[in-house]
Amino acid sequence: MKMIFLKSEEEILLIKESAQVLGKAHAEVAKWIKPGITTNKLDKVAEEYIRDYQGIPSFKGYTTSSGKFPSSLCISLNDTVVHGFPSGYQLQEGDVLSIDCGVKLNGFHSDSAYTYPVGEVRAETMALLKHTKQSLYLGIEQAIVGKRVGDIGYAIQNYVERFKYGVVRELVGHGVGRELHESPEVPNYGKRGQGPALKEGMVLAIEPMITLGKKDVVQEKDGWTIRTSDRKPAAHFEHTVVVRKGKAEILTTFKYIEEVIQHTTLMVSV
Ligand code: MG
Ligand code: MG
Repeated sequence: MKMIFLKSEEEILLIKESAQVLGKAHAEVAKWIKPGITTNKLDKVAEEYIRDYQGIPSFKGYTTSSGKFPSSLCISLNDTVVHGFPSGYQLQEGDVLSIDCGVKLNGFHSDSAYTYPVGEVRAETMALLKHTKQSLYLGIEQAIVGKRVGDIGYAIQNYVERFKYGVVRELVGHGVGRELHESPEVPNYGKRGQGPALKEGMVLAIEPMITLGKKDVVQEKDGWTIRTSDRKPAAHFEHTVVVRKGKAEILTTFKYIEEVIQHTTLMVSV
């Protein structure tokens, strides 16, 4: 198994600064979400904001065997689970829009995602969003010293499966630090008491990816975009957190996003 890097308090403060810029970049993007806006525009807003604060968009140019990711945001609409590209597509009333973003600042990454309803969406879709977000916080509650990685996944899976939702298996959360993706992997499913032990100073991206229908996903020909095989909607919420004794500390924030949502009539709070 690859090395898990524990972060010092100084390093955690640097990640927290990165995470603050990330939280505010998300909020800048949220201000633009409405029918008619292209997802390319959202990407541009995010990149400009991040660079204005001396950050680097973590995803832009991120390289895998599929090549380089072209954008600052992953924009995943409706049946797309994660890793969708921004494009000339114009948002429509009823869309479900997942926005995932990462910021590198001070040499450290932070990573978080939020899923928005565009205008009014179906009640069953709204419920999926609410329960996926709730599952994120239940996972975070387990990110404490004395627990194991499997406790996080168990908490998420146990909660969402009671609504007959699917837990995507192919994609998982991860450690975060000098690299965007570090060890350990943090699945959104698992067994209590299994997996690597959680230690003070581990920084983890916890990110439930939950589907309204079956859990199976397929990858599009672009090598990146992951969508549900049954074409039902998916939701994705993510925080970067640090494992602590007693209570995990959430480094990223939805506070700024939710301030924007409260001031718009176009979005309903998840
Ligand atoms: Mg992410
Ligand atoms: Mg992530």
